[in-house]
Amino acid sequence: MEPVSGVETIPAAAALGRIAATAVRAPIDLPPFRSSAMDGYAICAADVGSAGANELTVAGESAAGHPSSLRVAGRRALRIFTGAMMPAGADAVVLQEDVERRGDTIAIAEQPRPGQHVRERGHDVARGEPLVARGDRLGAYALAWLTACGVAEVAVTRRVRVAIFATGDELADPGAALGPGQIYDSNRFALLRLMADLPVVPFDMGRLPDNREAIRRALQDAAGQADLVIASGGVSVGDADFVKAAVEEVGTLDFWRIALKPGKPLAVGTVGGATFFGLPGNPVSTIVTFLLFVAPAILARAGGVPGTPLKVSAELACDIAHTRGRREYQRGQVAGEGGRLVVTPTGDQGSNRLATFSGANCLIEVPEHRAGLSAGERVEVHLLSADSGRLV
Ligand code: AMP
Ligand code: MG
Repeated sequence: MEPVSGVETIPAAAALGRIAATAVRAPIDLPPFRSSAMDGYAICAADVGSAGANELTVAGESAAGHPSSLRVAGRRALRIFTGAMMPAGADAVVLQEDVERRGDTIAIAEQPRPGQHVRERGHDVARGEPLVARGDRLGAYALAWLTACGVAEVAVTRRVRVAIFATGDELADPGAALGPGQIYDSNRFALLRLMADLPVVPFDMGRLPDNREAIRRALQDAAGQADLVIASGGVSVGDADFVKAAVEEVGTLDFWRIALKPGKPLAVGTVGGATFFGLPGNPVSTIVTFLLFVAPAILARAGGVPGTPLKVSAELACDIAHTRGRREYQRGQVAGEGGRLVVTPTGDQGSNRLATFSGANCLIEVPEHRAGLSAGERVEVHLLSADSGRLV
């Protein structure tokens, strides 16, 4: 999938979730100077133990942000605190609890090892070493590291423009009273929330009736301004399912229908320069196909280097009924029990039941070639992140 073109330089503070357009190397050594890892005394290890002497004189102090110009030499020590600059001549820190202090003198019981409790300059990262690679997603940890190195701005790829609309004559807006046969449109809301930490500019195109011409016009409109278009509903074989035909009028349908449960009628194609995803309308199908296909596609279009989602192996707590032919992803709850991981499906897995996401923290993979799974078997589970539309 071709990444969108366009790079922008933005404050690191605003770059959460964006994709690095270039590698970033550390502009400084971190830490920028040798510092103490603990509260104690900066000493020269060779000063202790020589000729049986273990007493040193405390000549001053080095606190964080207040370095001392005194030199540690000739059995002279400095009081030092965590993060403070190591004074010249010192090569070790003795913990305050490991000395006996009397006035300006400290007695050290154990021979210190050179380098102990000292953070060498560049020990986290040396100047010139990579902090992030091109295509990395900038999460909070990466941004913390960039900030620690004083990087205030980063070059990121531009956001992917994503147009979204829902289809269905039965849909009503939350907050309105439901008429006979109506349900609330939850998919559009869910998709917008699922994209919240992805590098996108969403266009909410609202709800459309089950009308081929209206859908065609919306696709045409979306194709002109979006990099990726997501439609919900209308991709099945019902008389009111017009999305596929409309896509074929405006662009091309690459494929439709996959051996997946939930999510079988997923439709994928192209409209104008935009990638098109027609997600099945059942709310669970919409979310699962978003997680498995749309989120990775958005990241790829944003120039992200695809990672492999973490799958872990867990023990199934109960039987799972399944018919051969399609791979199924059941919502489940995985938990550690006495050193083992045990996973339990979250009740009746109907693709209309958003209840299956309640308490869920994973998708349980039921292989396509299996006719049911038994309690105690090992299964693969994909971990869900709690509040984003990405697999862990
Ligand atoms: P469809 O894919 O249009 O055949 O819809 C399949 C099922 O999902 C039907 O029960 C629809 O009422 C329901 N559905 C479709 N779109 C939405 C939506 N935006 N929000 C909630 N449910 C929907
Ligand atoms: Mg429909």
